[in-house]
Amino acid sequence: MAEEQDRDQEIALSLLKWYQETKRDLPWRRTRDPYAIWVSEVMLQQTQVATVIPYYERWLERFPTLQSLAEADEEEVLRYWSGLGYYQRARNLHQSAQQILGKYQGQIPADKKTLLQLPGVGEYTAGALLSLAFNQPVPLIDGNVERVLCRLYGRRGNPKRSPLRKELWQKAEKLVALGPPAEMNSALMELGATVCTPHNPLCHSCPLQKYCQAFTSNLQEQIPETPIPKRSHRLHRSAAVVYQKEAIAVVKMPLDQVWGGLWALPQVDLQPGERPEEGAVRAAQEWLGLPVRVKGLRGTLCHTITYRRIRLFAFDCLPLGDRVAETLPKYQADSSATEARKIIRWVKTSEIQDLALPAPHRKLLITEAKIPP
Ligand code: SF4
Repeated sequence: MAEEQDRDQEIALSLLKWYQETKRDLPWRRTRDPYAIWVSEVMLQQTQVATVIPYYERWLERFPTLQSLAEADEEEVLRYWSGLGYYQRARNLHQSAQQILGKYQGQIPADKKTLLQLPGVGEYTAGALLSLAFNQPVPLIDGNVERVLCRLYGRRGNPKRSPLRKELWQKAEKLVALGPPAEMNSALMELGATVCTPHNPLCHSCPLQKYCQAFTSNLQEQIPETPIPKRSHRLHRSAAVVYQKEAIAVVKMPLDQVWGGLWALPQVDLQPGERPEEGAVRAAQEWLGLPVRVKGLRGTLCHTITYRRIRLFAFDCLPLGDRVAETLPKYQADSSATEARKIIRWVKTSEIQDLALPAPHRKLLITEAKIPP
């Protein structure tokens, strides 16, 4: 037991020394503002550091304080998140800010039990906030830390499930208590991100090499055990870019669907045998209630949502005859209040930039062809 304690102490010291010497200069490491640290941690979930940096900086320029975020409307919040994906993260952050402003006078709670009651805050985010912002010895485990701990202690099995999951949290708890908590947790994450990578870890430059059981047994590639990934599901989808004079129709996505709360092009999944341009006509009919004719292909692109690989065709479409004038105002009036699925907006091209749109649709609207004559 004492031997194990000594070994963990040595691990902690080696790790801290390495971190001090090699850590990356990242914007959220230059602050102790709990709100800014929270924003960075939420953005970093599922997203690479290099992608996050410009979003983080832009976000803090527009929402520099928790209060400014709480008081913003959701559409603007989603617009600033647009392109990072997993939009529920932004909605949760926004709702948490509102709750903190209302219940805790705008002060982020510094205790785990209260944090865990906020929308979207789980063990990881609570651990990150408490250790990185409040320097409390609270552990955290993300994918990077999980990998480091599994290899360091030579643990096989599924790290997402107990008993191994429970054991890893206990190990992380021990380690975070052996040094300054913010540094210790950051060091573990940094090691996983830059040295102990999923494949071809850089063991020759790892500060923990002499303690690492996976290295000793040459099992770095077998540990941690990863569940067989879900087979990605391929979909073909068509979107209608429908014009009326100088404006394009967008619809507000229902909250229970992907991209819920964002504005998006009317779109449908293609049915077996359905041609992409037929899909675009159906999308306009289903979402806008408008019969349209296809003017031409605007663009195609591929994107991924969780395990779905989507090939998206976008067609420029024009309303048929004078149906817009007759149909649309009534349709909008009926739909906006009673049927969330059909909230429609006509936006000018100059307004698209300011709209909370999913990244693929933004790309199709902004970088592809302009409004056709
Ligand atoms: Fe990871 Fe290799 Fe370091 Fe072990 S020695 S912790 S496998 S980088």
